[in-house]
Parts: sequence; C-alpha cells; structure tokens
Amino acid sequence: MFETDYETMPRGELAVLQLERLQSTLNRAYLNVAHYRRAFDASSILPEDIRSLTDIRKLPFTTRQEIEKCYPYDMFAVPLREVVRIHTSSGQARRPIVTGYTANDLKAWARLMARFLVGAGITKDDVIQIAFRYGLMTGGFGFHAAAELIGASVIPADIGNTVEQVIIMRDYLTSVIACTPGYALILLAKLGELGINPQSLRLRRIILGAEKLSPSVREKIEKGLGIEVFNSYGSSVVLGLGIAGECSAHVGLHVYEDFFILEIVDPQTRAVLEPGAKGELVITTLMREAFPLIRYRTGDITMLKEGVCPCGRTHMRLADFYGRTDDTIKIKGASVSPERIREILKTIGVDTRTQLHIYREGPYERADVLLEVVETLFFDEMRAQKAFVEKLEKAIHTGTSVRMGVRIVPSSAFKGDAVVVDERD
Ligand SMILES: [Zn+2]
Repeated sequence: MFETDYETMPRGELAVLQLERLQSTLNRAYLNVAHYRRAFDASSILPEDIRSLTDIRKLPFTTRQEIEKCYPYDMFAVPLREVVRIHTSSGQARRPIVTGYTANDLKAWARLMARFLVGAGITKDDVIQIAFRYGLMTGGFGFHAAAELIGASVIPADIGNTVEQVIIMRDYLTSVIACTPGYALILLAKLGELGINPQSLRLRRIILGAEKLSPSVREKIEKGLGIEVFNSYGSSVVLGLGIAGECSAHVGLHVYEDFFILEIVDPQTRAVLEPGAKGELVITTLMREAFPLIRYRTGDITMLKEGVCPCGRTHMRLADFYGRTDDTIKIKGASVSPERIREILKTIGVDTRTQLHIYREGPYERADVLLEVVETLFFDEMRAQKAFVEKLEKAIHTGTSVRMGVRIVPSSAFKGDAVVVDERD
C-alpha cells in the first residue's frame, strides 16, 4: 500500500478524522465562497451546527447547474494567486466548469492516484504509458504525477496515433498502460492488425478510468491482452480520476474516505440511502483547498459496499456503475448531454426531433445525431445537403469536443422514443 496508515485506518478513527476535516472544509467554504454562504443561509444552517457525520444530511446539495452559474472562478475558496493549476470539465454544458488546484491540492491528487497505482501492484520498476489526453481536461495529469511519485518510468504518450502507441508499447518496454476502456479496445484491435502478439510484449497491467467499464468489455481486454485490469473512478468537477480505485481483490473500487465523504441518495426524494442500495452518488471533499465541494450531486448511479476488503483496506468500495440520473453520456471519454447537442443545433436554426445513436464499429466508438427530416431540412441538391450536414457536424464537434456524424432521416429511422440509444456493450 502507498499510505497504509490511512488506507487501513480503523473505521472509528477514520470517522473522527472525517468530521474534523469536514468542519474545517465547511468553515472555509462558508467564509470564502459566496455560493455556499448563500446556500447555508437559505437553509438557516451554520458550519458549527454540523457536530456529527450524520449532520451532513442537514446541508444543502450542490448541483452542476449551480456551479455553472459561478463561471469562471466564483467557486474558488482561495485567491487566484494561490491557484497553481486550472482545469475544466468536459463539454456537457453551455459553459465548462472551471476548477482550480492549489499546490497542496496537486500533491494530494498525486497521493490518491498513487494509492490506486500501488494497489494495482505498480512499482518503481514499471514503465507506464499514459494514453490519456493532456489538456484542459484532467485526463492524464493525475496518472502522470502519481507514477512519478512512486518512481515509475512515465511515458506521456497522450492519445491518438494508435500505430505509434503500439510501437512505443513494444519498443519502450511498456509494462503498464493507462487509458480509457474504449481506447484499450482500439489498442487491442491495432495489435491484431499489426500482427503483434500481446504475449510478446512486456505488458502486465492495464489501468483504466474515465468511462464505464462493462463486464463484457473488461473480459475482452483481459482475455485479449492477457493481463490484469484495474478500474478507477473520478469526476473532473471534484478532482479528476483519483476518487476511488480497484485493488487486486477486484471487489469494487476503494473510495479514499479520508479525502471524501460519499453518500448515496434517492435521485427523486434526495433521501440518503444505506450502503448496499443503488442511488445517486453525492460527494463532499474534505481536503480540497481551491475548490471544496459540499454534497455535490454527481449524477452517477452506483452503490456503496461496506466491510473490510480481503486486501486489508477499511475504506468503503463503490460497486458497479448503473448509469446516470440525467441523459449525460460518455462518448470517447468525454461527457456529452443530448440537451447540449440540441442547443448547438438551435443556434444554427435546427429545431427538429433528434436522437443520439451510439454504437461500436469494430473497436471504434461512433456517435450519430439523427435529425428528423422536416421541410426546412429538405434540400433539392445533394451537394447543398452535404455542406449543411458538414456545418452541423463541425458545430457539434466544436461545442462538445466530440466528433459525431449527423444524419437527416425519416422518423421511421428513429429507434423508439429514447433521446439516447446506446448500443455499445
Ligand atoms: Zn481491496
């Protein structure tokens, strides 16, 4: 383990630590973030009213929409001069959520990711190829800092050019690859195309994150590459990847509870549910300096598992993920909401029925936006229609950062009434 004292902390001691850190977070948030002051005042609650961990239920929730209104910096709890890194969340909203990190936040992030890496059996002898995007989104940065922290050799491969990735993997003796489940399938297919037997490589682990990992995709990766798979969970609004990670027992993802309080709530009634019940994941940060979040509703549907893990860690685990409370969907590692796509189309004067169709073509994820053909979307000339479709595709790509196709089709081509049809397995 990377931090055995914290990772195996007895539950009683952990609760004391959580309460102490919660109270300090509430005080800082109330003092420095106008949004929290207003929200607490509206609920007639003060930070000092929270005297036990269950008192957290008295606090108001924080929603994505509320954070969006604080664009760009109004959710920051420290002055900008103390912020050393700025990231944004992916394109599911009109305006991105801008998050900040102090130097301590970055150190903490690296430590949490290092717990995941060490839990996955990664050591300083490993060569880690990070095939995540390095950019405004948190992408590869958490993996990168953690891998350096444990002394592994880091290859910041970024994403794209799969042939080059495979050559790097072979020639640079990569032993661990970090990527999304979708990209793992693409790498696997490329190895096949190039006639490279995965067993001939040094690869021994694959660490995944940023997308749902279905059992069938997991099996494909595990069997195809012949290596152990470790999954992780994160949120670009909360921190990035590094909220929870799988250990070698493979019985759920350990939440780093000394850094986060996780609750599961009924998405409709907002009542807090007990461990073992499915519901929306709500996260409170305990150590974030620049961007503390109090009862943030993630929209992810999951379940908490109690009990000491066979690995010895005492922290609760996240069971599988069962979808979202909204229509937001991950495509090629980015979150996209159908509502956002409709907004983009409206700005170009298109206001017809749409359906988002996501599927796999071989290992590749494809997304098509189906538009119902109406009089205003009827063109005499094929060329005019093609140009118009290209214009829409470009606008959607710019607005969501995900490339999607646009197809103008009769209503009979729609699959039922769903807003999103996801045919990936
Ligand atoms: Zn474990």
